[in-house]
Amino acid sequence: LVLHQCLSYTRHALHGQTRYKSTTVFSGIQPTGVAHLGNYLGALRAWGQLSASPPQQFDHTIFSIVDLHALTAPPAPDKLREYKRISAALIIASGVDPEKCILYVQSDVSGHAELCWILSCFSDFGHLNRMTQWKSKMNLNSNSSVTDEAVENLRLGLFAYPVLQAADVLLYKATHVPVGEDQIQHLELTRHIGKRFNSSYKTKVFPLPEVLLTRTPRLMSLRDPAKKMSKSDPAEQSRIMINDSPELIRVKIKRAITDGNSSVSYDPSTRPGVANLIDMVAGLQNRTPEEVAGDVKGFSGHAELKDFVADVVTRELQPVREKFERLCRDPEYLDRVLCRGAERAGVIAQATLKEVKTTVGIY
Ligand code: ATP
Repeated sequence: LVLHQCLSYTRHALHGQTRYKSTTVFSGIQPTGVAHLGNYLGALRAWGQLSASPPQQFDHTIFSIVDLHALTAPPAPDKLREYKRISAALIIASGVDPEKCILYVQSDVSGHAELCWILSCFSDFGHLNRMTQWKSKMNLNSNSSVTDEAVENLRLGLFAYPVLQAADVLLYKATHVPVGEDQIQHLELTRHIGKRFNSSYKTKVFPLPEVLLTRTPRLMSLRDPAKKMSKSDPAEQSRIMINDSPELIRVKIKRAITDGNSSVSYDPSTRPGVANLIDMVAGLQNRTPEEVAGDVKGFSGHAELKDFVADVVTRELQPVREKFERLCRDPEYLDRVLCRGAERAGVIAQATLKEVKTTVGIY
């Protein structure tokens, strides 16, 4: 399988590349609010490209609004209901064509929770204990040993989050998973669980999926370039939201943390703040950071760079924001798309579950 040139994804080989009989793209986003520029550049925009890719590229493309995952940090019930529609609007506004793919809400397909339980019987504590995401969500250092107090407060749902994620992917026998870099560790676990299931029953029920990464797999926070841009960061100035006004975008970029060196150069290890701004432009313009750095190296200082970055971000996000706002005014359309998506996803999910249940002896 050769990815079409127009796609901005590259394959991240977890364990070498695999040949698949048929190919399915699956990915998800939590309905935890409006998406930020990291979600857009790391996932959503390329979902649009994948769903529009010629049919010979992938046999199926499936995108899910993963509300069960969102319960690990439960939003207010009304907010969760609202965010599901907002997420659908965001995904479509980012270029996903619901006629060419399956777009649905995770909890509308009961197979996710069911497969999650079966797979949890093939998942070991040791592996889950090494996942860095639950540690960072609890503000724990990923390398340090976890205190008893932290474990006392650790909710099972947050700890088992990657098992539900494995169920999401394996339920559709996905072969390619377009996600940001923060999800690579979870995808490695998905492969591990799938492999363990297959080898336990000497079967090939689950293909082992590969990660697809964009050119911008990890956009960093504007307030702390050592952390990834995140929806759940309490600092609102740390992220650019898809629906931010041009004025707000400019303010946030102006306040972005850079460094004391007034020149403009691209070096993510020593100058992460400046590099993050250049990465943003490179991602949005589908160019390499080095190309963008070449264009901006003559700038007089960070103020000129930030003005330039704000112009690019505003220009590139404008059509997305406008489409998003239009879609939000049409909740009936969004509900129709999600309802149809759940029906189609449910058919595939039931077929996999039947195979899994037969394999383990439930049927
Ligand atoms: P939260 O902070 O609430 O956990 P999030 O911002 O990490 O949310 P998710 O819904 O977990 O967003 O992720 C949706 C997709 O966006 C995933 O594929 C994830 O890898 C990607 N993504 C999230 N943050 C970034 C980022 N900073 N840069 C690139 N991709 C990202």
